[in-house]
Amino acid sequence: MNRSARNHLHERHKAVLPDWLALYYDRPVEITHGEGRYVWDADGNRYLDFFGGILTTMTAHALPEVTKAVSEQAGRIIHSSTLYLNRPMIELAERIAALSGIPDARVFFTTSGTEANDTALLLATAYRRSNQILAMRNSYHGRSFSAVSVTGNRVWSTTGLSPLRTLYVHGAVRSRGPFAHLSDTDFTAACVADLEDLLGHTGDVAALIAEPIQGVGGFTSPPDGLYAAFREVLNRHGVLWISDEVQTGWGRTGEHFWGWQAHAASGPPDMLTFAKGIGNGMSIGGVVARAEVMNCLTANSISTFGGSPVTMAAGLANLSYLLEHDLQGNARRVGGLLIERLRAIGAGIDLVREVRGRGLMIGIELAHPDTGAAQPQAAAAVLEAARENGLLIGKGGGHDTSVLRIAPPLSLTVAEAEEGAALLEQALRTLP
Ligand code: PMP
Repeated sequence: MNRSARNHLHERHKAVLPDWLALYYDRPVEITHGEGRYVWDADGNRYLDFFGGILTTMTAHALPEVTKAVSEQAGRIIHSSTLYLNRPMIELAERIAALSGIPDARVFFTTSGTEANDTALLLATAYRRSNQILAMRNSYHGRSFSAVSVTGNRVWSTTGLSPLRTLYVHGAVRSRGPFAHLSDTDFTAACVADLEDLLGHTGDVAALIAEPIQGVGGFTSPPDGLYAAFREVLNRHGVLWISDEVQTGWGRTGEHFWGWQAHAASGPPDMLTFAKGIGNGMSIGGVVARAEVMNCLTANSISTFGGSPVTMAAGLANLSYLLEHDLQGNARRVGGLLIERLRAIGAGIDLVREVRGRGLMIGIELAHPDTGAAQPQAAAAVLEAARENGLLIGKGGGHDTSVLRIAPPLSLTVAEAEEGAALLEQALRTLP
């Protein structure tokens, strides 16, 4: 295929798909195949994938175990997940329930993280008989009507016409804003007081939904202990805790299998939602909830394709690979080395304000060294330069999209981490 035919593909994309379906890069990449931690585009260029297909590739691209499981299941039957017994769905649900840490857990499969959060909100509002929800400022939970209603990140709040009454809570970000100058302890105390005050002024609230580490929001986390302190307040008011593990689940943070475990003093959440990586690119999402909460709906809530045997076969093979190869441990070890290496690189570049992260979820925030102003144009320039060098990374952040996001497949090797760090350094050095 010649280059003009491929450019034409971009024209066709723009002609037939919504304007807001934004693509990365001035010349968007058409990924045609992948292997391990690398992907190739239609021009035959190879890229080291430091963004895991936006975190969907949990283990590795074209993992033979997943490919085999999918093709074997597809060869037997491709079917819906409803009305008949579905062995792969039951097996994956059993494994996720056991791993979830939630007592007496029930699992409901969807096809995306958005639908998973939709379901969690449906359950919370039904269980608590309230349509008031708390969410964190700068959050991202999806783009369906109710998921977007609890998305505080301005870049993604595509409509303000919410079916839920949502109140946004301080706590997940403080690099800017009224609490920026406070110590961790004072920040936590201020946010807890704010939450108490909010609940005091509001009628019954169904739930608080939060990402343990904000993903789209720029890989930011609250100080240790803040969510545990929140939990104590919420418990007193009977408010449910929904942990959105769409980005933080499956060991990506290295230290823990789920993000909520970093706040374990508060115990397991009432519900957790998952998606992305578990299917290694196949569309799986889901909710895990205590039986009492899950069973509060009064009629079937079914999704024709959530839990379909082919996606479940992918999930089972992928999860087995992850556990057998201790990819959580790999995320901790290789992620730890990568964070150190990137901090060393960042120390020599003026615009790098902070390198932060846990495991293989690493953010590099760009800001003006004197004024502290966010640098979205610099972030966009680094993204382009990295791609020219053969490295795919992501970007995110609050109002300003000035955080580079790194989230490779969890099987990343030390050599690949070194290679990616060197490519990223070259890209950062192109900044004026
Ligand atoms: N929650 C979080 C934390 C996410 O990052 C995302 C996707 N970026 C979602 C929910 C929505 O998931 P999906 O795109 O699969 O609908």
